[in-house]
Amino acid sequence: MDIKKVISQHVEMEKFFTGGFTIKGKTSQPEQQQKTNSADAAEAAKELEKVADEVRLCRKCNLGSLRTNAVPGEGNPKARIIFVGEGPGADEDAQGRPFVGRAGKLLDKIITACGLKRSDVFIANILKCRPPENRDPRADEIINCFPYLQRQIEIINPEIIVALGAPAARTLLNTNKSIGQLRGQFYEYYPGLGSSPIKLMATYHTAYLLRNYSQENRKRVWEDMKKVLAELGLPIPEHKSK
Ligand code: URA
Repeated sequence: MDIKKVISQHVEMEKFFTGGFTIKGKTSQPEQQQKTNSADAAEAAKELEKVADEVRLCRKCNLGSLRTNAVPGEGNPKARIIFVGEGPGADEDAQGRPFVGRAGKLLDKIITACGLKRSDVFIANILKCRPPENRDPRADEIINCFPYLQRQIEIINPEIIVALGAPAARTLLNTNKSIGQLRGQFYEYYPGLGSSPIKLMATYHTAYLLRNYSQENRKRVWEDMKKVLAELGLPIPEHKSK
C-alpha cells in the first residue's frame, strides 16, 4: 500500500467535507446567496412595477382625472427602509416621481446625512395623485389609495418604515394622535395576517421642516433618524449642528 497516496486521498476527502472544495457546477454559499438575493430583488421589482402600472391607470377617485402624472413611488425593491410621505405636490405631479421638489431635496439631504443613497431606500406616499392646491388628503381618497401602499410594503418587506408627517403616521398606525405625540419612538405596522410586524418611526415631514427650519426641529428629525440607523445596526455618521 502506498501510504503517501492514502494520506493524500484522506486529506482530499477531508477538504471535500469541510468545504475546502467547490463542487463543479455548484457555487459557494455567498455566491449562491447573492444569486438568490438578486433573483428576489428582480421578482420584487416586477411586482412593484405591476402595482405602479395599476396606479397609473387608477380612476378610483376624482384625483385620477386631475393629475398630470400618478406618482407610484420608487427605489430599491428590497430596501431596508421605506419613507412614506403624504402625497405628490406640483413637482412630483409634473415628473411622476416622489419627493423631487424642495421637500424632496431636503429628504435627499437627510438620506445622505444617514450615510445612505436614495437608491438604497424606497420612497412612496399615502396618496399616489396630487390633491388640488396641495390640500390635505380626504378620508375617501386615503381609503381608495392606501391598498397600493400596503401592497408595496408587503412586496418590499422593509425592516423599518419612516412615516413623514401626520397623515402618513396616522394612516399607517390607524390613530388620530398628533405628529408631536407620535414621533421619536418605534411603533409596529401590521402588514397583514401571518406577516411579522414592521417597525415604524414617525418624524416631521420635510415640508413642515422647511416651514419651521429651527435647530430644535432639525435636531428632532436627526434624533429620530439616529434611532432608525441604530435599529438597523448601521453606523451613525457624526454631524456638527449648524
Ligand atoms: N410631499 C409629499 O408628501 N410627497 C411628495 O412626494 C412630495 C412632497
